[in-house]
Amino acid sequence: MKIILASGNPGKIREISAYCNKNEVLPYSDIVEKFDVIEDGKSFQENAIIKAKAVYDKVREKLDEPFVVLADDSGITVPALGNIPGIYSARFAGEGATDKENLYKLIDELKQAGFAHTPAYYTAAMAIVTPKGTFTVHGWMHGEVIDEAKGEKGFGYDPMFIPEGYENTLGELDHDVKEKLSHRSKALELAKTVIETL
Ligand code: IMP
Repeated sequence: MKIILASGNPGKIREISAYCNKNEVLPYSDIVEKFDVIEDGKSFQENAIIKAKAVYDKVREKLDEPFVVLADDSGITVPALGNIPGIYSARFAGEGATDKENLYKLIDELKQAGFAHTPAYYTAAMAIVTPKGTFTVHGWMHGEVIDEAKGEKGFGYDPMFIPEGYENTLGELDHDVKEKLSHRSKALELAKTVIETL
């Protein structure tokens, strides 16, 4: 069964294809024209469902074989700062903000609140829309955020995030360390189970 990804992000496509290697994985834009989806859900889960359903409906008009659509929504949450940026992680410093602008905005918020470090966690929600219905799974990675950026690896908020049990940020740690711990890997493992049992 084909897995259609509701994302055009090449990093996500590579990661998910490597994980679900028993299935053919392809971006939705290989089948229908790219379109924007308004992500106005109140949780990662709602936003993942909104994306997956919108893509499923469009692809169904074109593809005459069984398929599932997988969408993810993710971000970082800092409880001591009132759970920011949460579902607004990708646009924390404004619509169209770069990863660097979002990262430094969160560092500024920590500094303003007087925290050198405080607990934080990443969430990944995945929605899988299938002919048998819609399923959702989650993965989390816990740790701390610090009030400075260290290292160049990873992306987004990784240079300020130290995973539980480590002393370095994800900007400094090797990619395979992140892959073992990450919210996305955990969610993907569960999504794979859902797809395999359809
Ligand atoms: P999405 O693509 O709409 O799910 O937005 C995810 C946003 O959350 C990204 O733009 C990053 O700012 C942040 N994010 C999610 N996962 C990670 C991660 O693994 N590392 C760093 N930042 C992440």
